[in-house]
Amino acid sequence: MTQTTSADVVIVGTGVVGVVVAEQLLDAGHSVLMLEAGPRVSRAEVVENYRNLPLGLKGSASSSYPPKPWAPHPMPGDDYLQLEGPDSYAQTYIRYAGGSTWHWAGTSWRLTPEDMRLNSLYGVGRDWVFDYDTLDPYYNMAEQKLGICGPSDPALQWPPRPRSAPYPMPPLPFSPGEEKFTRVMKEALGYTNLPVSQARNSGMPYDDRPACCGNNNCVPVCPIGAKYDAATALNRLEAKGAVILSNAVAHRIETGEGNRIEAVHYLDPERQEHRVTGKHFVIACNAIETPKLLLMSADSRNPNGLANSSDQVGRNMMDHPQLGLTLTLDEPYWLGQGPVVNSGIMETSQGDFRAEHAGAYFRMNNFARNRYETFNALATGKVGRALDE
Ligand SMILES: Cc1cc2nc3c(=O)[nH]c(=O)nc-3n(C[C@H](O)[C@H](O)[C@H](O)COP(=O)(O)OP(=O)(O)OC[C@H]3O[C@@H](n4cnc5c(N)ncnc54)[C@H](O)[C@@H]3O)c2cc1C
Ligand code: SF4
Repeated sequence: MTQTTSADVVIVGTGVVGVVVAEQLLDAGHSVLMLEAGPRVSRAEVVENYRNLPLGLKGSASSSYPPKPWAPHPMPGDDYLQLEGPDSYAQTYIRYAGGSTWHWAGTSWRLTPEDMRLNSLYGVGRDWVFDYDTLDPYYNMAEQKLGICGPSDPALQWPPRPRSAPYPMPPLPFSPGEEKFTRVMKEALGYTNLPVSQARNSGMPYDDRPACCGNNNCVPVCPIGAKYDAATALNRLEAKGAVILSNAVAHRIETGEGNRIEAVHYLDPERQEHRVTGKHFVIACNAIETPKLLLMSADSRNPNGLANSSDQVGRNMMDHPQLGLTLTLDEPYWLGQGPVVNSGIMETSQGDFRAEHAGAYFRMNNFARNRYETFNALATGKVGRALDE
């Protein structure tokens, strides 16, 4: 079979960014070629990997996705990300077709208008160069594309304000534990525990994905595909005409006359070099691999790497710092029915205090605790009936 080596638009990366851009281009009648560093795997294969993990690794977000030698990605305890300085950076991502949403939790909050005007409102940081109203239609489009379920009622938003378009699906119900937590928070502290907006199908199929059945396995993988991950879109993109080349690791972007991008070079697993051309290029390899590829593509016209006249490519990356707190309670709370994240407290995220310190969002983790109790029981040597008990 002859390999397609050219298209109107070449997209590097088949994560959520790559596939959302690809679908809009295909719908507008453009030809699309996608390069993907990692393998194309079935959901059943990932679920089987998960089943076969040793107990101690079942809680790991990435262990069900063993990295391929030609497309490594960070794994717990390895040195793929070479860090300088005293702080560790334990974040993971996945270089498989479909990218990192394979193992994401699916929480899909928007920024608020206030978040985008920190300097004007609170005298800290920098304002965005455009305002929330400019971004709003794109949020609506993304929510349609990913199939977000969430509370459209302004009373369940924080800050409480009407949305310009409802979420595509209503929120999922709370687990018994979340209902109880919501009641206690209100009574004891006056806080409202709100339903999370999330990329899951609530009560209805959406985009050929079934409704969430609440089995609480969202991280590392939703076994039925009710949670959006970009892999759920790949067959649809191909049906619309996209060509997806997996196991194709882009390692150089080639510039030509006028410093326009002319081609992307990739290596296959045998380290054979290939070149694909296009009229336009989208580099959607994620916040770490995209800067890496741009910097690796330095040439005589761009000695500091591509798109880097500012010298800021690969700098200033931020993640969201988080603290975890686990409680042992006197009475059963019955967590674990429904998705792993389904509710949270937002009131603590906005206010004039932001001039002094950052806003905080309290996420109620709805993880089933059976797994951890099982580890503890096994660690004490319990087997058979004693383990069941
Ligand atoms: C455990 C976990 C939970 C998370 N939960 C949430 C959440 O609840 N809500 C939220 O908003 N975010 C969450 N995130 C973050 C979210 O998953 C990522 O921000 C998002 O998936 C990034 O999308 P992307 O398309 O930019 O990159 P990716 O999804 O990483 O996709 C990049 C793609 O490019 C490919 N690629 C990389 N290098 C090359 C190359 N050289 N050549 C060809 N292809 C290449 C990769 O294989 C991959 O397919 C979570 C992340 C983790 C790890
Ligand atoms: S709760 Fe189960 S069905 Fe629902 S998104 Fe999570 S893993 Fe999928």
